[in-house]
Amino acid sequence: MRYNKIRKMDISNGPGVRVSIFMQGCSFHCKNCFNPETWDFKSGNEFTDETINKVLDLADKDYIVGLSILGGEPMHPNNIKATTRLAKAFKEKYPNKTIWVWSGFLFDRDLKDKEVLNYVDVLVDGQYVDELHNFTLKWRGSSNQRVIDVKQSLKNDKVVLLDEEKELVGV
Ligand code: SF4
Repeated sequence: MRYNKIRKMDISNGPGVRVSIFMQGCSFHCKNCFNPETWDFKSGNEFTDETINKVLDLADKDYIVGLSILGGEPMHPNNIKATTRLAKAFKEKYPNKTIWVWSGFLFDRDLKDKEVLNYVDVLVDGQYVDELHNFTLKWRGSSNQRVIDVKQSLKNDKVVLLDEEKELVGV
C-alpha cells in the first residue's frame, strides 16, 4: 500500500482547513483525470504506521476540522485496508473532526458494506466523466458524482445526499 502525498493544510478538498492524503494507485484512468500521477500503484511512498501517526499529528490543531482522503483510489482493493486503518485511527483520536473521502467506486453498488464507511462522514462517489464536467459544482468535478452523507445513507439504507447547510459546518 502506498500514498502519493500529504497536505498539512488543505482548503480545497472539503469544508474548512483540513489535512489531506492522496493514496497511490488508480485503475479507472478517467479521461482528463486531475491527478494522473497517482495512477501507478508502484509510485509514491510506502504507507506505514508512521504515515498514520504523521496524519494524526498534523491534525492535532484546533483549526484543522477534518481529514480528506483522495487519490488515486482510496477504495481500490490494494488501498482500502490502508484507508480503513487510517480512517479508524483518525476517528478514534478525533471523534469531532470529519472524514471526507473521494472514490470512483459507488456507495450503493460497491461500498456500503465496507467497514471503512463506519468512520467516514462524507463520500464523494463516482468516476470523473469529462463530458459531464462543470466547474460550478462544489466538491466534485462532474455532475454524475454525488456528495453523500454516509451516516444518513447507512441509517436509511439508501443514498442520502449531503445537506448543503450542514456542509458549511462540516457535518
Ligand atoms: S477515479 Fe479519480 S484518480 Fe482515478 S482516474 Fe478517475 S479522476 Fe483520476
